[in-house]
Amino acid sequence: MINITLPDGSVKHYEPGTTSLQIASSISEGLARNVLAAKVNNEIWDATRPITSDSSLKLLTWDSEEAKSTFWHSTAHLMAEALEFYYPGIKFWVGPPIENGFYYDVDSGETKISSEDLDKIEKKMIELARLNNPFVRKEISKKEAINYFTEKKDEYKLDLLNSLEDGSITFYEQGKFTDLCRGPHIPHTGFIKAAKLLSVAGAYWKGDEKNKQLTRIYGVSFPKQKDLTDYLTMLEEAKKRDHRKIGKELDIFTFDDDVGPGLPLWLPNGCILIDELEKLAKKTEQRAGYQRVRTPHIAKESMYLKSGHLPYYEDSMFPPMKLDGEVYYLKAMNCPHHHKIFATLNPSYRDLPVRLAEYGTCYRYEQSGELFGLMRVRSLQMNDAHIYCTKEQFAQEFRAVNEMYQKYFKIFNIDKYRMRFSTHDPAKLGKKYVDNAKLWLETEDMVRKVLIESNIPYVEVADEGAFYGPKIDVQVWSAIGREFTLATNQVDFAVPERFGLTYRNANNEFETPICIHRAPLGTHERFIGFLIEHYAGNFPIWLSPVQVAILPISEKFHDYAKKVVDLLRFYDIRSLVDERAEKIGKKIRDAEIKKIPYMLIVGEKEAAENVVSLRKHGEGDKGSIAIEEFAKAIKKEIEDSTN
Ligand SMILES: [Zn+2]
Ligand SMILES: [Zn+2]
Repeated sequence: MINITLPDGSVKHYEPGTTSLQIASSISEGLARNVLAAKVNNEIWDATRPITSDSSLKLLTWDSEEAKSTFWHSTAHLMAEALEFYYPGIKFWVGPPIENGFYYDVDSGETKISSEDLDKIEKKMIELARLNNPFVRKEISKKEAINYFTEKKDEYKLDLLNSLEDGSITFYEQGKFTDLCRGPHIPHTGFIKAAKLLSVAGAYWKGDEKNKQLTRIYGVSFPKQKDLTDYLTMLEEAKKRDHRKIGKELDIFTFDDDVGPGLPLWLPNGCILIDELEKLAKKTEQRAGYQRVRTPHIAKESMYLKSGHLPYYEDSMFPPMKLDGEVYYLKAMNCPHHHKIFATLNPSYRDLPVRLAEYGTCYRYEQSGELFGLMRVRSLQMNDAHIYCTKEQFAQEFRAVNEMYQKYFKIFNIDKYRMRFSTHDPAKLGKKYVDNAKLWLETEDMVRKVLIESNIPYVEVADEGAFYGPKIDVQVWSAIGREFTLATNQVDFAVPERFGLTYRNANNEFETPICIHRAPLGTHERFIGFLIEHYAGNFPIWLSPVQVAILPISEKFHDYAKKVVDLLRFYDIRSLVDERAEKIGKKIRDAEIKKIPYMLIVGEKEAAENVVSLRKHGEGDKGSIAIEEFAKAIKKEIEDSTN
């Protein structure tokens, strides 16, 4: 018998050769029906693969990222089978899962595949899926594999085979299709109930433009038809809320050829968003005991060598500059600058924790093909801070950081969020990870405990930690259900040592602090991009670039309108007067398009009675109100929204 350890720590005994699926059946038939793959000793396996020795086992269903990836990758095989049906002789390069779905790069020879063909391929896929064909894993010798693809005249798979070692090669078969693949896959095609092929694009073989151009077909699939329908609705809505489109309509940001790609220019309206976010961050951080610092945008090579950014991170940095015989780099991270400030403070244990905050501007080199609106840029301003604390203070500090996140989520109406907690792999200590097994386990335990105590939804992923400590990626979902990675928190117990950072303990000895890197509001670029989609441009009043528009019915009432605007400005309410010689209906429509939260219409009656006629964006007429009463109410609304 072999011992199978389940996630709750319980151990069960099975015959050697039992599959994860059979183990699932022995627990419950309902569970077995939903098992897509399994994690055996921390490796993702086919649920149908026999387990022959003592192992840990986690059954994976659709709600796990690993199962989704397996599901989508398996659908790429299914698509390949459908493609082979319509395009005999078609050749395949690689078909990986991606963030939302999968693609396959194919060479269909003379017959080109276009978006008009996707429909029929999709139909064929579902027809084939219904056959419930199992994905069958076969270990195969390199020689046999080479023979198979030589006969098939598939130079792409032969190229892949070149880099593989004999004894590690597997084929997967489903229905009439055989692929060279490491796996894993879902048990059978019947799980794929809905599939949509989304687009066709050209893709150079191995990403090299000197190579032949292949056809890349993108798709997505789901275990339920309803999931697909919801996903497509979300995509449709996301298109309407595209931050590049709304950013232009609302004059938030722009790009200019002379400035350069990936370097956004913030227009006055965008600058108001930034100022308001910074105001919020300053208030929140000040209350949480942070201190603000400021650091230059460049630093000498020696600092980045010390921090380890050079040479490992060099590809992501702007090229160096030479000055007075020294080499300088634009800063890609604020951390090393903050470490230097911490060192200068020369703290004792009584001064800890030290929390240094800065909305720091960083410059990173992203390939031009990777740039995307505000989401992927080359200059970014980060809601950065570094917390230096003792091991004993760590849990409390980490808890406080999480509370800050939750406070922000409430302010921004972010209902769905999750922490993705990446840990180390003990087998890779000293290679991929700092060689300090004890500290890894201790900090990971503390992080896990705080996440559970604070009731924060989280997933744990093994072997994805940073080199110097566990990592927590914060994922948030916009109002329409699209996922964004907002920020990353890192626990760092290696770099403080590299920088020689110390504090004096109670016995007046030097000790190395732990450092927490955190950035709850991410970068202005990414966060504002997210907020535009989240609110569809209808920002809450405290963020709205223009909070109130005063719309005079005719020129005769401009003086009264000015009196109103002056009063509102006295209350720090951002307002303007629409003085154009347009009809009032047109002025209202334009203010609605600009998504201004409140409109005040002023004419004969209003001027005579010292009132305004109030309209609320998206809601319409609210009747008349005295100016001062309105100003006070709005001021309170603005203040309450971030308190
Ligand atoms: Zn595969
Ligand atoms: Zn940092």
